[in-house]
Amino acid sequence: MGGITQLGYVGFAVSDPSRWEQYATQVLGLAVSRRCADGGFSLRHDEQEQRLFIRPGTADDLDVLGFEAADVDAFAELAEHLAVADARVEFGSEVEAQQRGVQRLLRFEEPGGLTCELYVGPLQAAAPFRSDVVRGGFVAGAQGFGHLALRARDMATSTRFFCDVLGARLSDRIITRIGDMDVHITFLHWNERHHSLALGEGLPKHIHHFMLQLRDVRDVGLALDRMVDHGVRVVQTLGQHPNDKMVSFYSETPSGFEVELGWGGRTITEGWLPETHGVWTEWGHRPPAQLARASGRR
Ligand code: FE
Repeated sequence: MGGITQLGYVGFAVSDPSRWEQYATQVLGLAVSRRCADGGFSLRHDEQEQRLFIRPGTADDLDVLGFEAADVDAFAELAEHLAVADARVEFGSEVEAQQRGVQRLLRFEEPGGLTCELYVGPLQAAAPFRSDVVRGGFVAGAQGFGHLALRARDMATSTRFFCDVLGARLSDRIITRIGDMDVHITFLHWNERHHSLALGEGLPKHIHHFMLQLRDVRDVGLALDRMVDHGVRVVQTLGQHPNDKMVSFYSETPSGFEVELGWGGRTITEGWLPETHGVWTEWGHRPPAQLARASGRR
């Protein structure tokens, strides 16, 4: 097959790493896999040793996206494509590759100005993943980390870059109005996960939200309970999107951007035809204040 097989890891630069550690392990249910001397750490949610890198920083934003190349030949071919596309390619050192737990890596810049990495050969963990709070585990593996909504400076330029240079395929689009805002989201996939990236313009940060998919719908409900128990702000109630059909809710992370926890997303199948949807939710995904107001009415 060649090319990129998945969005394999994600990194955040955060102002409060210790709060993030508590949030990621006790609320989201990830497991710490490595610690760094600078107070940063990495987390896992499946058999891959490192899926989420947290480093101390003031941005409270996305720091890096890691894309996995199928093999060393695909890595070399993609490196050439990136160089031709003037994506500021820099090969990483052996030490940098070791820190990411991969055999080889290079850095490049995507059109939105975010540093990304292309890597090959991720390290698998010695022990199976387990979490004290998530019973059924996460959908990751060959589908990669999850998905992420990324800021595009210009939708057409970013879509061309991810599709033509990095081999993404269009899943679908949502073009709608939310409140008084025109919203246009482009969804891209590299494997059977409905989308690994969603591109949107006009976002205040590189990231709007990241999504982790649970295997068992009960873990979505339990995660919602944990948000309430830990005093975490829920941003959107349970709902279902028209395109990936994920049943999910959104809440705030310690960095202000959001996390979506979902279950039951549909996968890309042979002969997939991209559509444009005119709504962004089929049901639910309401601001909790609406529920509060409705329950105040008798
Ligand atoms: Fe999402």
